[in-house]
Amino acid sequence: MTSLFNNYARRAVHLVKGQGTVVTDDQGKEYLDFTSGIAVVSLGHAHPTIVKALQNQSEKLWHISNLFESPEQEKLAESLTKDTDLSYALFCNSGAEANEAAIKLARKHTGKHLILTFEKSFHGRTFGAMSATGQDKIRQGFGPLLESFETLPFNDVDALKGAANENVAAIMLEVIQGEGGVNSVEPAFAQAIMEACQQHGILLIIDEVQTGIGRTGTRYAYEQTALKPDIVTLAKGLGGGFPIGALIAGKDLFDTFGPGSHGTTFGGNPLAVAVAQTVVDHVFEPTFLQDVQDKSAYFKAQLQSVLPTEKFSVRGNGLLLGIHSNEEIAPVIQKAEQQGLLLVPAGTNVIRLLPPLTVSKKEIDQAVAILKNILN
Ligand SMILES: *Cc1c(COP(=O)(O)O)cnc(C)c1O
Repeated sequence: MTSLFNNYARRAVHLVKGQGTVVTDDQGKEYLDFTSGIAVVSLGHAHPTIVKALQNQSEKLWHISNLFESPEQEKLAESLTKDTDLSYALFCNSGAEANEAAIKLARKHTGKHLILTFEKSFHGRTFGAMSATGQDKIRQGFGPLLESFETLPFNDVDALKGAANENVAAIMLEVIQGEGGVNSVEPAFAQAIMEACQQHGILLIIDEVQTGIGRTGTRYAYEQTALKPDIVTLAKGLGGGFPIGALIAGKDLFDTFGPGSHGTTFGGNPLAVAVAQTVVDHVFEPTFLQDVQDKSAYFKAQLQSVLPTEKFSVRGNGLLLGIHSNEEIAPVIQKAEQQGLLLVPAGTNVIRLLPPLTVSKKEIDQAVAILKNILN
């Protein structure tokens, strides 16, 4: 691998295939994948329905320009916005791009540029998304950053009240900070955000790149809070492993992006849309979402019953869970890998648990047994 940049701390595992929750390396060793490629393979690996969707589309049409009409994109946009207060979608290829579009939309719509974001947030690696990200380690060395982002402490009502005023274009946040440590927005903070938005005419951008599309047990994580977004960004789980991002927004914002104002060559590509439509149809079924909630409650209860509570606490919602530890968790992740369980950290002290939404209770039991063994 000497011809690759070294910008990832890659693990010495070469995965060659996957089925459901199980992935297999080139030595034939099997692992339970509780990373889902970081919340991406929402229906597990090689789910037959999305394999079929991709196969079918690949025999018909791979790519057209967004200069041609697309009933397929229209349908996906409708599925994403149905029974929400949001009305319009546009498609792109990644989470950072979706956030970039959100920042542009908010600036153009309000004619203002100040955006309030939060410590430990993660919004992506492009200049706009990176500037919005409240973590120095991600921004270091790349300055000067994009102007006009103010980073506030998360869940701090007073800090928010102090910073919200008529000059603010938007507030941007994750409902559960994924990369930043599985930290959930508190009800009082959600309330304060809504009051600030109403009082000062501030737009609310919710980054659901990680939490969206069923990951937390509802279609979108904001549905479990008092937050009423003007703009929602999506990516990761939307394509079930095929790259696609989206921005969905309220109808007041429609006129802000007229022809020629924003775009991307690949956004909403027919292959990506065919797969995403299949994922969304599957995940947005109420019985499927209920099943995610049931498995989440089961997973949390099992973890709480085996982990020493003085050292660990379990947080998060749905199948975006975090085990918070007062010690560094890198050795735990390594041991779990040896024992056949793939995990990712969120910061230095949190183990993130992100199984496919299709994970079985038996697989949860197996993962809990491995964690129990390591953490006790
Ligand atoms: C992963 C992530 C992003 C960035 O998405 P990319 O597809 O890697 O650009 C943005 N926001 C959140 C909340 C994420 O988890």
